[in-house]
Amino acid sequence: IQVVSAEFHKTATRPDEWPRGPVPEVAFVGRSNVGKSSMLNALTRRKGLARVSATPGRTRALQFFDVSFRPTPAARPRPLRLCDLPGYGYAKVSKAERDRWAAMIEDYLRERDVLRAVVLIVDARHPPTEGDEDAAAFLQSAGRRLVVAATKMDKLPKARRAAALQAVERSLGLGRGEAVPFSAIEGTGSDALWARLAALAAE
Ligand code: GDP
Repeated sequence: IQVVSAEFHKTATRPDEWPRGPVPEVAFVGRSNVGKSSMLNALTRRKGLARVSATPGRTRALQFFDVSFRPTPAARPRPLRLCDLPGYGYAKVSKAERDRWAAMIEDYLRERDVLRAVVLIVDARHPPTEGDEDAAAFLQSAGRRLVVAATKMDKLPKARRAAALQAVERSLGLGRGEAVPFSAIEGTGSDALWARLAALAAE
């Protein structure tokens, strides 16, 4: 995969603000601080595209990015839109505010017609959180295609990585080899994730 261009498009809090047009879209969800911004930057090869922040829970809107990529060096560039969803599980907000975000995210995940797949990002070092399990169950019930990416693999010794990945797969009800191992630090997993996204976008 070659990323031809990647740029911020817009933020949205209401459906009438969602970008229009027939461009295929992939959304990214995960608990706050899981490494979502770092993954978006690694995938697009643009360091500052999504803001990597030391203070979690800052992003309160949907953020859309326009990407153009070539599946092979000789292929024509294809468009793909990425949607960065606010991270869940951030404690320092009121219940009313959390409910508002949840409604905004659920509306998007249920109703977005150009949405081809959702990448659920989990921390490879730990069993999925309740929030991760809820997100996976919600996406399944909404009929969304789920791609699970286990990030921060670099924090595990190499000898423990395969077992950690299998633990993630088992606990989220996935088959062997379905989760994508990822590390923004080591720069691994981008090609495997792109292969999945490009295939889903082409359907
Ligand atoms: P977000 O809140 O989910 O967008 O997470 P960020 O991308 O802002 O990352 C949260 C923290 O985890 C930051 O301190 C990152 O440097 C760190 N981080 C993100 N990805 C990785 C990774 O693959 N490996 C390691 N070791 N740290 C990571």
